[in-house]
Amino acid sequence: MGAYETHFDRSINERDAFWAEEAKLIDWHTPFTQVCDFSNPPFAKWFVGGTTNLCHNAIDRHVATRGEQTALHFISSETNAETKYTYRQMHSEVNRVAAMLQGLGVTKGDRVLIYMPMIPEAVFAMFATVRIGAIHSVVFGGFASASLAMRIDDAKPKVIVSADAGMRMGKVVPYKPLLDAAIELAVHKPAKVLLFDRHLAPMQTTPGRDIDWAAFRLSHMTTQVACEWVESSHPSYILYTSGTTGKPKGVQRDTGGHAVTLTTSMYKIFGLKAGETMFCTSDIGWVVGHCYIVYAPLLAGCTTIMYEGVPLRPDPAIWWKICAENNVKTMSSSPTAIRVLKKQDAKFMQQYPLPNLKYLFLAGEPLDEPTARWVSDALGGVAIIDNYWQTESGYPVISAQVGVEDTPRKFGSPSFPVYGFNVKLKSEATGKVTAADEKGVLTIVPPLPPGAMTTVWGDDERFVSTYFSTFADEQVYSSFDWATRDAQGYYFILGRTDDVINVAGHRLGTREIEEALQSNPMVAECAVVGVADPLKGQVPIAFVVLRDPSQASDATKIAIAQTVDKEIGAIARPAAVYLVTLLPKTRSGKLLRRSIQALAEGRDPGDLTTIEDPAALEQIRAAFTKHA
Ligand code: AMP
Repeated sequence: MGAYETHFDRSINERDAFWAEEAKLIDWHTPFTQVCDFSNPPFAKWFVGGTTNLCHNAIDRHVATRGEQTALHFISSETNAETKYTYRQMHSEVNRVAAMLQGLGVTKGDRVLIYMPMIPEAVFAMFATVRIGAIHSVVFGGFASASLAMRIDDAKPKVIVSADAGMRMGKVVPYKPLLDAAIELAVHKPAKVLLFDRHLAPMQTTPGRDIDWAAFRLSHMTTQVACEWVESSHPSYILYTSGTTGKPKGVQRDTGGHAVTLTTSMYKIFGLKAGETMFCTSDIGWVVGHCYIVYAPLLAGCTTIMYEGVPLRPDPAIWWKICAENNVKTMSSSPTAIRVLKKQDAKFMQQYPLPNLKYLFLAGEPLDEPTARWVSDALGGVAIIDNYWQTESGYPVISAQVGVEDTPRKFGSPSFPVYGFNVKLKSEATGKVTAADEKGVLTIVPPLPPGAMTTVWGDDERFVSTYFSTFADEQVYSSFDWATRDAQGYYFILGRTDDVINVAGHRLGTREIEEALQSNPMVAECAVVGVADPLKGQVPIAFVVLRDPSQASDATKIAIAQTVDKEIGAIARPAAVYLVTLLPKTRSGKLLRRSIQALAEGRDPGDLTTIEDPAALEQIRAAFTKHA
């Protein structure tokens, strides 16, 4: 057996001993007495009886040994700002923000919603929240008021932390008006809003509710806030993600499992050592950013680079310049970003010598082979590592684990299951494990390992019914992804089994987009599906039946598409709106979504014996022909 196999095998067959060993990587205030409590499946509690704190493990414990090392290096190509914070400075800033949050009444278990651009203050707010045992929910800055309001009502934050604006492609993107509109829409009202003013956009403030960060910080410059020691299973954060229903799910993460697994993942998966530098190009509003911009690098004593900007400005060499100037060893990005760069000359990637860059991890969506080959050629000696995971898993589920063994990689495959994830491909029809190269649903035999989602925030029942009820024969976690495994054990991810689409690595529910469209009074009915896109992987397109057919025009289509900007955010806007007079449905009125999707992919629409009116399908077919 190779090192990978031995390591993986132990994680499954000697589970508790394996994780007890890994748990030594972090500090425990009180040692745990049980590694895993799986007495109430599918709920798993890890490191039972242990108390710890994420902020202590990511910041405080490093101050003595690496206090002068840069912890967070912020670079904005939008505002031309660059700031470095050592572990010691991080400690001071986070203490101040923790004191500010306490001053606003936040205590253990309260929620703090963070709706911020990519600036260091967002990271301080995250660490400050967990320092005092509160629970953060970061909402991606690209989400519009209605999406934000839905998250406010679900998480019920006591305090919201926000800023005047972000900046993208040289344009100011105001946040405060969207936040105000969201609070207006939400039933739950936060007690206070803490606002960091970047002086990019004017802000209207609500006296008594809105607090100015800079002024408030001045009264907490030297306040020390002790870490709140929390139970290992205490929630650290909630991160919303799309599913098959219109209502996003709040993925809840624990504290101890999260701290242990992110620390170990830096060494075992991402191949870093304490003192080395990681550059993750994601956004803090997505799980990849939570993990590999914020928590993991600091938990592991590394330096993290936080970048505000796009890969093309001021020119397409910017990321590689950052890597060269900062001795980045491991980079984490998305296939879409690489496809954006692929449209540029490869010479931009070669402008700076990159002797220290060893690994480029790509996740969030399928990595197509031409893109993988292009970037591999463009970057010469850098290993290109496809890694598959989800908001729910909290770290890669299938990936090469270069710190365990540098196993050979195959283009198109993220390689092998990560230690702790007992992956099983099951036939949708029979539940049986699929044969080599046979397509199956990617499932995980519980308990999910430490650091994975522990439940849906406030809804244990939904956790079980959503994730653990796909197969009657066995209670397994469904990833809702199709996959195959070849004879050598390499996995290949084939796309979602549900109505979720993946736009530029961002997961969006087609139902959510349909609900947004439906809020436009011109829309009688609609259906949204994802179609392949050479740059973004997939884009949504919408079929709409108008209430009043005489309104059919290009202006109407644009207005309908823009409804999505307002309701969800521009990332979810349909790439095309097609006006049809009817949608394909069964006689009982159920939308034949799989048939529409099949037509979108140039496949046979399947069994149509139940269709109410076959003419509906012809309209869809005609639209796709036009789209292609
Ligand atoms: P999210 O929770 O937003 O990170 O989205 C997770 C989904 O993105 C997965 O369920 C997959 O459908 C897709 N995904 C993530 N990583 C990969 C990958 N390496 N290859 C193929 N699909 C991926």
